Amino acid sequence: MSNRPPVIEIRALHKAYGPLDVLRGVDLTACQGEVVSLIGSSGSGKSTLLRCANLLEDSQAGEILFCQEPVTWRGSGHARRPADAAQITRIRTNLSMVFQSFNLWSHLTILQNVMEAPVQVLKRDPAEVEAKARDYLAKVGIADKADAWPAQLSGGQQQRAAIARALAMEPKALLFDEPTSALDPELEQEVVKVIKALAEEGRTMVIVTHDMKLAADVSDHVIFLHQGKIEEEGPPADLFGSPKSERLRGFLAATA
Ligand code: ADP
Ligand code: MG
Repeated sequence: MSNRPPVIEIRALHKAYGPLDVLRGVDLTACQGEVVSLIGSSGSGKSTLLRCANLLEDSQAGEILFCQEPVTWRGSGHARRPADAAQITRIRTNLSMVFQSFNLWSHLTILQNVMEAPVQVLKRDPAEVEAKARDYLAKVGIADKADAWPAQLSGGQQQRAAIARALAMEPKALLFDEPTSALDPELEQEVVKVIKALAEEGRTMVIVTHDMKLAADVSDHVIFLHQGKIEEEGPPADLFGSPKSERLRGFLAATA
C-alpha cells in the first residue's frame, strides 16, 4: 500500500436510482500521485462512481473523504445530500473531470475554454491564467489552436483541449470518464500519450477506461466493477496477468 496521503477515499458507498442499486458497497482509495483505473462492463456503475466522487451525485450510504476531510451529509437513505455548499465547491474544483464527449463550450475559443473556470470560478488574475493556459495547451500539444473554435478541431485535439482545461484548475486529482471512447484509433493514441505523460509526472488520477492497454500501462491499481460491486482489484500485473475471478477472465477475453 502507498504511504502517501490519500486524496480520494470512498468507503462502502451505496448509490441507487429509485429501485435500481447501482453501487452496492464500493471502496476506492487514490493516494497522492497514484493512478487508479476502473474497468467493467457497460452499466456496472463506473461513471456513477466518478460522479459520486466529485459530488455530482448524492448517495444513500457510505463515506467519501477528500484529502482526509469527510464529506458532511444531511438526511439519510434517499434523502441523503452533501450538506455543505462550500465543501461541495471545494471538492469539485479540486477534482477536475474529463468526459468522453469533451464538453467544450462551442461559443468560446480553445484558449477561452481553458481560462473560463480559473477566471470565473476561482477568480484568478486573467493575465496569469492566460499565461498558464497557454502552457497547458503546449503541454497537450495544441498551442497553435489557442484561437480556434472547438468545432475546428479534431476529436483528439478537442479532448486534449478538455484535458488542458481540467489541468488549468490545478486540481488535486483528475477524473477521466472513458476519455478515448469517442475517438478513432489513431486519434485515441494522441490522448493516451497525454494521459501517460500526466501519470509519469505523478498526477493523481482515477480513469474509467475500456482501453485495457492504457489501464495496464498507467495504473498503480485497477478495480474491476461488476454490477455495482468490486469483483476483483489489485496491481495491473495481477489483474491482467493472472485474473482470479471467472467474470474478470470473461470480461478480459471479450475486450481483447
Ligand atoms: P457505466 O459507466 O459502468 O457504464 P453507469 O454508472 O453509467 O455505468 O450506470 C450504472 C447503472 O445506473 C446503469 O444501469 C444505468 O442505466 C443506471 N443509471 C445511470 N445514471 C442513471 C440516472 N441518472 N438515472 C437512472 N439510472 C441511471
Ligand atoms: Mg460510463
